[in-house]
Amino acid sequence: MNIDVESLQRLVERAVNELGEKKESVQAAVGDGVFATMDEAVKASAAAQRRLACCGMVDREHFVQVIRDTVLDPKVLEEISWDTVEETGIGCYEHKLVKNRLAAEKTPGTEDLTTWASSGDDGLTITEYCPFGVIGAITPTTNPTETVICNGIGAIAGGNTIVFSPHPRAKNVTLKLVRLLNHALAAAGAPGNLIVTVAEPSIENTNAMMKHPEVRMLVATGGPGIVKMVLSSGKKAIGAGAGNPPVVVDETANIPKAAKDIIDGCSFDNNVPCIAEKEVFAVASICDRLIACMQECGGYLLTDLEEIQRLVELTTKDNGAPKVEFVGKSAKYILGKLGVEAPSDTRVILMETDRNHHFVTEEMLMPILPVVRVKNADEAIQCALVAEHGNRHTAMIHSTNVVNMTKMAQLLETTIFVKNGPSYTGIGAGGQGYATFTIAGPTGEGLTSPKSFCRVRRCAMKEGFHIRTKSQAYFGNPPAVS
Ligand code: NAD
Repeated sequence: MNIDVESLQRLVERAVNELGEKKESVQAAVGDGVFATMDEAVKASAAAQRRLACCGMVDREHFVQVIRDTVLDPKVLEEISWDTVEETGIGCYEHKLVKNRLAAEKTPGTEDLTTWASSGDDGLTITEYCPFGVIGAITPTTNPTETVICNGIGAIAGGNTIVFSPHPRAKNVTLKLVRLLNHALAAAGAPGNLIVTVAEPSIENTNAMMKHPEVRMLVATGGPGIVKMVLSSGKKAIGAGAGNPPVVVDETANIPKAAKDIIDGCSFDNNVPCIAEKEVFAVASICDRLIACMQECGGYLLTDLEEIQRLVELTTKDNGAPKVEFVGKSAKYILGKLGVEAPSDTRVILMETDRNHHFVTEEMLMPILPVVRVKNADEAIQCALVAEHGNRHTAMIHSTNVVNMTKMAQLLETTIFVKNGPSYTGIGAGGQGYATFTIAGPTGEGLTSPKSFCRVRRCAMKEGFHIRTKSQAYFGNPPAVS
């Protein structure tokens, strides 16, 4: 066979290029998404995003399904739930199972990205939800894996890749989940490194991520400090911050049901969800009955004022913040440390306090529930407004009085408002609607979904592509009236 030098050169070049591409795709496939430095993680994420941008919507939905299926594998679900409790010392295994399953099943996928169209005499304009690029996500100790699942699905459905900066106290379980998801995605043919993180999460790494020029958007799920930081970053940011959800119970409520709902919500994952019931304002005429019903549902009532004060000192730091070693611990554990032997079915520590008590005003993230007696629903709603501190996060009411329900919703302006149910009804657990673990009150996205991770872009076509009328340009002047 005769072959000229130029053709030979072209063949060699093509072979070398193909080899290079293969090598890159193998590297991407076997990479586990965990990088030594934040710079490497972000660069890998940016390369992955360029590949994802060339995948179709069917591919994206397939990748989302891979995340769901991976997490819903019973072995994985059990392992990440168990490991989280073991590593962080926060929350309760059975409820972590529920939360991780909820995140995998009910976080919306690409169907969330609806296109808006306007057609008329001037043509057709469409508006679409488009990717930002690389998203930097900061996750809390209280929902470490749930947030990875929920933000991961949201980002990828939106066509983005995502770099996680987990809380150092949830490092191992987060790294494990990132690795599992990367392997599963690569095995399903996705570009490698859609979801990445760093081997040693730290405040320095979080800062490096926030400043990295290739990170186009930030999402922080955590306390007020980190939300403030991302909002001062100069980048587009979603801030999902703290809450202190109040519950109002008025004289028209179904009291036994209200009591059960409140105990169920307050004890869920040992009270760490930002949406969980943190204090109750009960109208005096039903207050005793409510407390009695809550006791029947696993509430352990403390009545001794000195004992309540000892509980404050046991669980609270000098600066008023909750002591980390008690965050997300069970009621029985906390009572044990107080020297109180409680029945084995104890779920919540109850006490009556005044409205200015520390347990009312502070987000403790423990199953400790102060009940404040007030004269009527209006006073309860006013107290709830003060206790919520303007977070505009979550609030609950138990009532059959439409006026009271409406007044409270209008006054508190919370992102989530639950009527006659446990708090978790508001994130789709036993309630209508999709799930999220990033509730963005401060920046207004509300219950985040893939849309929240997207840029809105418009594409306008001048003339044509509308079919309701006949254009003179195509059909000439209208026929004369006969
Ligand atoms: P946290 O604020 O201590 O930490 C959250 C994340 O921010 C962690 O990854 C942490 O490492 C990082 N971080 C904190 N300070 C930082 C700093 N100075 N520099 C760099 N990174 C920093 O919160 P947490 O204890 O992990 O989580 C509990 C808090 O999060 C509660 O206040 C809860 O209400 C809130 N939360 C809100 C939502 C929501 O959707 N709104 C969801 C879950 C938790």
